[in-house]
Amino acid sequence: MLKQFNRVPKSLLNCKPNEVFGLLGGPSLFYLEGMRSPPLFITVLQHGNEPTGFDAMQKILCKYDGAKLPRSVWLFIANVEAAEKGLRVLDHQNDYNRGWPGTLNSDCAEARLMEQVVDIVTEKPLLASIDIHNNTGCNPHYGCINELKTPFFHLAALFARTTVYFRQPVGVQSLAMADHCPAVTLECGQAGEHAALDHAFEYIDACLHMHHLPEHVIAPGDIHLLETVAVVKMRQGISFGFENSGDSLSFDVCFRPDLDRFNFGSLQKGDTLGAVRQGTGVPVLATINDGSDITDKVFEISGGQLRLKKNIIPSMATLDCDVIRQDCLFYLMKEMSLPQ
Ligand SMILES: [Zn+2]
Repeated sequence: MLKQFNRVPKSLLNCKPNEVFGLLGGPSLFYLEGMRSPPLFITVLQHGNEPTGFDAMQKILCKYDGAKLPRSVWLFIANVEAAEKGLRVLDHQNDYNRGWPGTLNSDCAEARLMEQVVDIVTEKPLLASIDIHNNTGCNPHYGCINELKTPFFHLAALFARTTVYFRQPVGVQSLAMADHCPAVTLECGQAGEHAALDHAFEYIDACLHMHHLPEHVIAPGDIHLLETVAVVKMRQGISFGFENSGDSLSFDVCFRPDLDRFNFGSLQKGDTLGAVRQGTGVPVLATINDGSDITDKVFEISGGQLRLKKNIIPSMATLDCDVIRQDCLFYLMKEMSLPQ
């Protein structure tokens, strides 16, 4: 079901993400010959409601307007079907960004699609791989890498100082591509923000003009490296929200309405995350990468509040209850020092 093209139809340059499925008919891989090789591999719209990567590539293609790009590009426009509906993923689909080689679920259409894409784009060397996303909640722009190596640091730091290293979840694009070339996932903040589009556009344009990735060891001040150590999810059957209607709680837990303001900042031991209905118990579950439960080390109930037992650096906290239910409340991060 992968469509392949060697040029971009004019109609793609000014359409909306929800019109791409109608124009292309399915996930589409473009090879766009540029002035220089090896190519960049750019992935957009893995999640149908995260348009910044697509918008930025449109702006790039309009800028060069039919002329050769400064460097060759493989462009993968991924979940166009979900984009048509403005959704992250459709009910009958698996998450595209969990289906790349190394996935836990290799026996599905999405995994076969991603394997095909990787086989095609890695037949010859690549300069780098860039996968572009948006997130919900108030987060700085940052890059994610999956290898602690100099070219990966430079590729991420070119986008933002804040850089996240992770090895889980598996099946993610940048983790799969890290076996083949320096790879990064860009988190460009919330969908629809102008700053997100401009930042992604300028980053891609800079990468297109870059002769090669710097080889010198990155200066510690040029990168703020953090690692995801745990994921915090809601426990089954807990009702939750972000408002507190006076004395009686409308949910089992009412989180503080500024929870997403602490992303990549810090919350201190003793700080409250919200009010908890009496008898509810700790409403969240914190697990580290190997699945071990560390909830009791991080959270406690005291005075009707969910409180922290230690200082934390949260990330990806959002006020969107659907996202919290589908994904998580937030991640717990740890600062890392650069490898010597
Ligand atoms: Zn995404």
